[in-house]
Amino acid sequence: MRLILLGPPGAGKGTQAQRLTDSHGLVQLSTGDMLRAAVKAGTAVGLKAKAIMDQGGLVSDEIVVGIIADRIDQPDCRKGFILDGFPRTTKQAEALDRMLAERKLKLDAVIEMQVNDGVLVDRITGRFTCAKCGAGYHDHFNPTKQAGVCDRCGSTEFTRRADDKAETVVPRLKAYHEQTAPLLPYYEGRGILRKVDGMAEIDEVTRQIGEVLKSVKA
Ligand code: AMP
Repeated sequence: MRLILLGPPGAGKGTQAQRLTDSHGLVQLSTGDMLRAAVKAGTAVGLKAKAIMDQGGLVSDEIVVGIIADRIDQPDCRKGFILDGFPRTTKQAEALDRMLAERKLKLDAVIEMQVNDGVLVDRITGRFTCAKCGAGYHDHFNPTKQAGVCDRCGSTEFTRRADDKAETVVPRLKAYHEQTAPLLPYYEGRGILRKVDGMAEIDEVTRQIGEVLKSVKA
């Protein structure tokens, strides 16, 4: 199965993608995670991307399309994948269409996670991640069960993203509305857009996505 999770920053795409990885054995392809890894490793791509990411802008289509094209050919993607944070522009969506057509693959569903802008700043500024296994948490909405200890792997080290601060959230939301939201009618026109209530509790969102996946398989 090949899915796209579409929604503004803070909608819960990463959280739900992680759950789908655990429950359905799909690979999570997050361009944000891949770019952060490139920044950390100091690669040429990372050096180009860093300044743009720090300002909350979008990295060039060429860079992210290249990253995804390399990634979907790896053997672990054969069973299927969840795109999290890609595509983010019409150009990226068109490039993805071409990539899939060349490989005779199709998208099963694009799942829109609907969330009001008003809650996103609070959601984003409280996020943190286990430094060891990557499990995602939130200070108020999804804390670890035991303070300071990862539920999944027991690690006590956590990280916070450099761009998860109030001043970067505004340009990130602007980029979403101006450049990514036009993908909703793009996929609606193809009859593959499904909507879930991203304002609901995390487990309820997971349940709604599960319903979408059942209807896609049927
Ligand atoms: P994310 O982790 O998806 O919130 O992405 C973090 C940042 O990485 C974004 O604010 C962008 O600067 C960059 N980024 C991630 N994915 C893309 C993409 N598909 N196109 C352009 N920039 C991206």
